[in-house]
Amino acid sequence: MSAREAKMKAAVLKEPKDLRLEKIPRPECPPGGVLIETAASAICNADVKMVDKGHKALDYPRILGHEVTGKILESLTEQFERGDRVQIAPGIVCGECEFCQQGLTNNCEEIEILGFTRDGGFAEYLSIPAKGIKTGAVNSIPDKLSFSRAVFSEPLACCINGLDLARVKQGDSVLIIGAGPIGCLQAMLAETYGAKKIIMADRLERRLEFVDSEKAALTKVDCLINTGRESLNRAVMKETADRGVDVIILACRQGAAAYPLPELLKFRGRILLFSGLPAEDAALEVDGNLLHYGEKALIGAYGCTAEQNQKALKLIAEGKIAVDRLITDEIPLEQISQGIKKARNKIGMKTIIQFEHQKGEII
Ligand SMILES: [Zn+2]
Ligand SMILES: [Zn+2]
Repeated sequence: MSAREAKMKAAVLKEPKDLRLEKIPRPECPPGGVLIETAASAICNADVKMVDKGHKALDYPRILGHEVTGKILESLTEQFERGDRVQIAPGIVCGECEFCQQGLTNNCEEIEILGFTRDGGFAEYLSIPAKGIKTGAVNSIPDKLSFSRAVFSEPLACCINGLDLARVKQGDSVLIIGAGPIGCLQAMLAETYGAKKIIMADRLERRLEFVDSEKAALTKVDCLINTGRESLNRAVMKETADRGVDVIILACRQGAAAYPLPELLKFRGRILLFSGLPAEDAALEVDGNLLHYGEKALIGAYGCTAEQNQKALKLIAEGKIAVDRLITDEIPLEQISQGIKKARNKIGMKTIIQFEHQKGEII
């Protein structure tokens, strides 16, 4: 069979609420680019949102999946050869606009994103064009690191982008609202930044129980608050002897409007809006004087740069972020709907889709 006729299995989102597993033509290797045989792709909350409601930056039909690792099947660039194990940073950028020139590639004016505006990793194969190779979208996975662990580079890189923007530093106290996979990555990352106290809050007891049971990996989490049962303000103030915290990270889609957050910050404190808010509930009511007199800041963060992606891959390879603790399900592509359902219902932490052709890989 010629490459032109070759088919692959892919999960295609036709429109919101219509995700289908289909056999479609396999992409070809673009000139100067690579064709990748997918090994592992992780399900993210953004995928759930896309399936349920669509997404601002999504066009259809689209193969979702932006947390991707695989093996080079065909290479038309000297940088990679067949068999290389790689992790993909999902932003394919121009490398030339004013943001790219400053290394802020997540703000590229012409960005294409895997699983959003370009086909992603919920398929057996995907292609990366020459400009993706040039701008650092394809990263070699160190020998001993598994595909499933390397897949966390993308979400961890987004956390690096957030924590850097929020200027998390040595000695900071950090409140993370949302104890899902992203909240846990942020907690582990904040620890590597030298945070001295980490408080995590969630409404779901099972998520707090998970964090509690993972104390070995999340050593700096000193306090867990169930916001379904107790007042966030009161619990944070009690835990910090009425001083408040240096940084608040919103790692959940609900709640920004619901919490009187600036009051929980010390002078010069920062609030990081890491997660997007529901469109119908995105308006924030903030007392400007609390920001002014307290020299406090509200900061947004979205996506990650190629450089942050490389940093994240290195942190994972060095064992500094125990991502394996967050893998609670590994499923074949055929079970993607069940995986998305679990993520939607917040059952378990991270679900990884494993691809058949990589089974038997001993790592
Ligand atoms: Zn994601
Ligand atoms: Zn650009």
